[in-house]
Amino acid sequence: MGPQGCGKGTQAKLLADKLELTHLSVGDIFRWNLQSHTKLAARIKRIMDDGQLVPDEIVEEIIQTRLQQHDWNYGFIIDGFPRNSEQAEFFLESYDVDAVIHIDVPDEVTIERALSRRHCASCGLDYNLMYHRPESEDTCDVCGGQLVTRRDDTQEALERRLHDYRTRTLPTLELFQRKELVVHVDGAGSVEATHHSICERLRI
Ligand code: AMP
Repeated sequence: MGPQGCGKGTQAKLLADKLELTHLSVGDIFRWNLQSHTKLAARIKRIMDDGQLVPDEIVEEIIQTRLQQHDWNYGFIIDGFPRNSEQAEFFLESYDVDAVIHIDVPDEVTIERALSRRHCASCGLDYNLMYHRPESEDTCDVCGGQLVTRRDDTQEALERRLHDYRTRTLPTLELFQRKELVVHVDGAGSVEATHHSICERLRI
């Protein structure tokens, strides 16, 4: 868990590789729906563009359907979920949590990082103009596709998401803290430094 731009997607992928876990990102599933123009896309497009949270019943259905695929023999890392206490309670009814990783960064860093995010419209590779610049501007180094900005990475939408994060997501940490291992790490440093702190705290 952590605010936008804290690096949770990047860290979740690194950890999933290291521990051979399946990486699930609710935001990625929603973005796939938008790109594929599914029926669901019509229901979530405006909400996502505005930087608001998708209603719980839709999120819960997505999670349930995804986890029923059972391609996660060794377990999974879920990124971008839960984002409020209702989602956390829904999840804890059916699944055990080994650890919750909380990555914190100051507000100004999250906004600056998120505004610098780009991804390839063809292969989906992530870039960041601050840390991982493409060799030629707006072009993917790997497949030559066009680099684009997430539609919800505008200043206004980012501020709305940050507000939701502070008021609705952070309080769920208290709920987890009562029951599970919660690991707090500072995400303001490099990708490697944050990954190292997470591994150290989890003793892996
Ligand atoms: P993310 O990629 O995690 O930043 O998510 C992008 C957007 O997807 C969010 O701003 C929300 O609109 C939606 N979203 C992702 N996860 C959730 C969730 N657990 N609950 C509600 N909305 C979500």
